[in-house]
Amino acid sequence: MPERLPAIALLATGGTIAGAQSEDAAHAYRAGAVPVGQLLAAVPGLERLARIQAEQVANVGSQNMTHAVWAELARRIEALCRDPAVDGIVVTHGTDTLEETAYFLSLVIRHDKPLVLVGAMRPATAPGADGPANLFHAVALAGNAAARGRGPLVVMNEDIHYAREVQKVACAGVNAFASPNRGRAGVMRGSAASFFSRNDTLHSTASAFSLQALEAAGWPRVDVVHAGVGLDGELVDFLAARSRGIVLAGVGDGNATDLALRALQRAAGAGVAVVRASRTGSGRVARNVEVDDDALGFIAAGELSPQKARILLMLGLSLTQDPAALQDFFDRY
Ligand code: GLU
Repeated sequence: MPERLPAIALLATGGTIAGAQSEDAAHAYRAGAVPVGQLLAAVPGLERLARIQAEQVANVGSQNMTHAVWAELARRIEALCRDPAVDGIVVTHGTDTLEETAYFLSLVIRHDKPLVLVGAMRPATAPGADGPANLFHAVALAGNAAARGRGPLVVMNEDIHYAREVQKVACAGVNAFASPNRGRAGVMRGSAASFFSRNDTLHSTASAFSLQALEAAGWPRVDVVHAGVGLDGELVDFLAARSRGIVLAGVGDGNATDLALRALQRAAGAGVAVVRASRTGSGRVARNVEVDDDALGFIAAGELSPQKARILLMLGLSLTQDPAALQDFFDRY
């Protein structure tokens, strides 16, 4: 008897993996042009890996990913996680915000079923398109019991990344994804996965967050302010009047000009949650090193990039306003 192939649910959302480029010119490029059936047909050997049932959840360039699509995706994934006939789930996604969707899902999907996000750097119609290989690896990984309990994984260019760690670190090239702080989760070789480490941060089954709480709180508004030479306090003052949280994409160790820090202190004093992250791309922003967080009422982002700090703060604010409790989330997720 042949072994039973894993049943994989594939949710397509668009991006370059489904992109078409009719000529080699920037304006001719369209993300999310190819429907999911056509994507699957382009991957040789997929039928020997898994039984795949595909659905198109959205078909957008991921720069246009929305909270509404996140909610729909999370609900669909929850349902598939509860379905005993499904062994694993693959989400195809544009690469621009892939890391944000992966991290968001790691915080709101409270199941241990393998969930793999995948994209491509080259359009489906380009010579040497990387989408078919990436999709092959994603389906193989989603059908692998070793992927269970690690939270959402991202597969690109034969590398496996944890949702919390992965970052798009280059705007072009097939090796655009890296996990700068803690390194890759593992690698794919053909259909086999080798894992290097476990994910020991809180996520998935251990997460305190939920889509329900987030929706009940109305998706608390959090904005990011990018620091640099000469940043004044005007942008922070503007946001303080409308945002529940502000993430500083700070210079170096999450720092900014005296003017900007004073404006952030005013915002924190008025009850806005202020998180200091770093614009450098890696490292750990710790409390009270260069900036006196205790005195100013700030939260330190730890290893999270500004874009991921924004997601955690949004979810944190759905449960609490208390800076100490929010800091605790940043220390553990
Ligand atoms: N900007 C598009 C997106 O993120 C295309 C980039 C890509 O998928 O690589 O969907």
